[in-house]
Amino acid sequence: MQSSNLFEQEVEETPCRHIIRVAFESAADTEFDYALPDEIWPIEIGQRVEAPFGKKNKLHIGFCVEIRQNEQYDEGTRGQRKKSYKLKKVTRVIDKEPLVDAELMELARWISSYYVCPLGQVLAAIVPSAVKRGAGVKTQQNVYLNIKTADFEKTIEQLRGKKQKQIVTHLKEQGAFNKESSLELQALLKAVESGREPVQRLAQKQIIKTVQKTVMKSLPVIPEGMSIRTQGRIVLNQDQEKALDAIKTGTDSDRFGVTLLYGVTDSGKTELYIRAIQAVLQKGRSAIVLLPEIALTAQTVQRFNERFDKIAVMHSGLTAAQRNVQWQKIKSGRADVVIGARSAVFAPLAKLGLIVVDEEHESSYKQDTAPRYHGRDVAIKRAQLANAHCILGSATPSLETLANCQSKKHFNMVRLPKRVMSLPMPRMKLVDMRQSRVTQKGINLISEPLAEALKVTLERKEQAILLLNRRGYSNFVFCPSCKHTLHCRNCDVTLTFHRSNTPRRDRMSTITGTHMHSGYAICHYCLAQTLVPEKCPLCGKGFAMIGLGSQRLEEELAKKFPAARVSRIDSDSMAGKDYYRLLRDFGQGRIDILAGTQMLAKGLHFPNVTLVGIISADTGLYLPDFRANERTFQLISQVAGRAGRSAKKGTVFVQTFLPEQQAIQYAVKGDFDGFIKEELKHRKACNLPPYWRLAAVVMRDMNFEKLEAACAQMRQKIDRVVTREGLKLKIRGPMPAAINRIQRFHRMQIIIQAPQAATMQRLFTSLRAEPPVRPAVKIAIDIDPVNLL
Ligand code: ADP
Ligand code: ZN
Repeated sequence: MQSSNLFEQEVEETPCRHIIRVAFESAADTEFDYALPDEIWPIEIGQRVEAPFGKKNKLHIGFCVEIRQNEQYDEGTRGQRKKSYKLKKVTRVIDKEPLVDAELMELARWISSYYVCPLGQVLAAIVPSAVKRGAGVKTQQNVYLNIKTADFEKTIEQLRGKKQKQIVTHLKEQGAFNKESSLELQALLKAVESGREPVQRLAQKQIIKTVQKTVMKSLPVIPEGMSIRTQGRIVLNQDQEKALDAIKTGTDSDRFGVTLLYGVTDSGKTELYIRAIQAVLQKGRSAIVLLPEIALTAQTVQRFNERFDKIAVMHSGLTAAQRNVQWQKIKSGRADVVIGARSAVFAPLAKLGLIVVDEEHESSYKQDTAPRYHGRDVAIKRAQLANAHCILGSATPSLETLANCQSKKHFNMVRLPKRVMSLPMPRMKLVDMRQSRVTQKGINLISEPLAEALKVTLERKEQAILLLNRRGYSNFVFCPSCKHTLHCRNCDVTLTFHRSNTPRRDRMSTITGTHMHSGYAICHYCLAQTLVPEKCPLCGKGFAMIGLGSQRLEEELAKKFPAARVSRIDSDSMAGKDYYRLLRDFGQGRIDILAGTQMLAKGLHFPNVTLVGIISADTGLYLPDFRANERTFQLISQVAGRAGRSAKKGTVFVQTFLPEQQAIQYAVKGDFDGFIKEELKHRKACNLPPYWRLAAVVMRDMNFEKLEAACAQMRQKIDRVVTREGLKLKIRGPMPAAINRIQRFHRMQIIIQAPQAATMQRLFTSLRAEPPVRPAVKIAIDIDPVNLL
């Protein structure tokens, strides 16, 4: 490629037949037209191209999103136009085939518009970077026979060397007669136990030929030996039959529809997903199953793998190479069931017939970087574009989905009210920690009733799960005499103390000259770490560790149950692999008590767990978020679902300082309908979802004055659009965000409430057409935010 020509080309009249529109990942919120040199033609929408961009004409990579004829190319019209096009030219096409098909392209456009994100960025997110990089692709040498079948015997006879004869025979037996059927050289040499020399001889004589082939590495992702063994053929119970009928009405129609499968934990939802997928596969269509990342355990994957032949897996635990292998498998049609986390909603499946979103209420389906899409809502949209069916499964459906079932004709709800085999729901026990405080000395994370229950559980050789929604050793480091707390230098949050003997030196700042606690304080937002002095730097008295983290819980367990085998699971103590290993050990009974954060609450199936303890049910209630009640309810119900998943009866202890709190009360009674009714009243009164739509415009900058000026201007722009278009909206702010400083960036937000999604859309479509906000600061637009930080 001669890049020196680029400038000349740029100012030339464009004698190309075609013009394409390119969406760059890195560029502004627009797409750009380019001339496509005829020698590059043909091209398809969804392929990536390289093209000069900006004043310096640096080469950038972008997606071709539109193709059209160059009208000026036609002799007849040339010269009639006043201004002639002067377009830069595409320098090359990168992909052999489109990475994104027409359906996904349309989905990308919808995401770009709905979630207010440049199309190029959306497309970049849709195709995994491992695919773009070609991770896991290797080049190997292959060989094949270069003689006619008829000449075979003769050729063999004429050969002197024994190895040469063997090689030729082997190639014939394996049917390696051309490039396509060629054998890998290494494998051939191994099979006939030969060195390279005989091969070289044969190649010289033109009897065999060698070729370079690029192939995907073989990288299995389905874990082995973790089978939970399905007990023979499962006969659906009546509720399941009824629910499956309703789902099948949807899948058989070949038209878009959504079924909410509202069933308590263990009611057999997953079994129904499997049946629905089977029905869809029989019709020659394919399916996607979305799970929250953390529920994507080996157990789940294995369960699907036992029932389907061609599955592909997509989650964050895969290496780049594995990810690419899985993606290629899907793209080439070698997989028809994809199981994965949020981003699997973009799996390049053809003929999609069904998308299942398990635990649809999970906030982890929302992506917290651009594009800030909600996996569930994108799944619904994709199903619509593909004329497919969508199943949303949950024991505690989101208020949004419940509202949709009432108001939208495509939505339909079916219920599974009972546990499979009529297993009883676990007993729920509320423990008032204020009482417990009085009777026990010091800080105790485990109340007396819970401790007693643990003891009994251990004696019976059964297992327990303890949930504490706090990482680290303590919530914050606090001086009891002068009330000084350790804060993050960069963020407006208190630091969490983590006990450790080997702090990480790389990210650490130290306060010199004082004796240090053996551990470090860490900010959970920017991950900055600092050593903690034993004495308060302000008053010289001793520091105290207040609050109760999962590390602290582990310590207390060790003291109270020295014989028990305890393991802790949270994102501090493990990377993905260790997580799976721990779960396996727990499943195989090598661990008695599993303690940890929220990660434990989801989708795990351990029949021998008869006790679940929620150490502090109210942690979430202190968050400044209108969904705090909903989250608390969901968490308690979900953790409860981990108990008693077999004939052995389960018990759940819910420890709280706020026993009268409604979300907790309803959760303990297992009264979801009651909770919903109560919660909806508040939402309605405050114009909150599911009644109204919400958007947060979060702006940040290191310079506070600059940020304030930019925010004020943003508000003016919004007000102008609202007045001009007569939109009915509520706008609050600019105001400090709940955490008003993260990583040294000050944060302000403007919250917008709209009675309808369409109104919100109109506001942002118009805002996008406005000139950018000055002074320039970082702006994140979050449509349907799941938490307001
Ligand atoms: P959920 O997804 O609602 O938690 P699952 O589908 O995982 O429920 O079912 C829980 C357990 O019960 C699984 O081990 C499953 O194989 C089993 N199961 C599901 N349906 C039936 C049935 N009709 N009869 C017997 N066992 C069933
Ligand atoms: Zn920080």
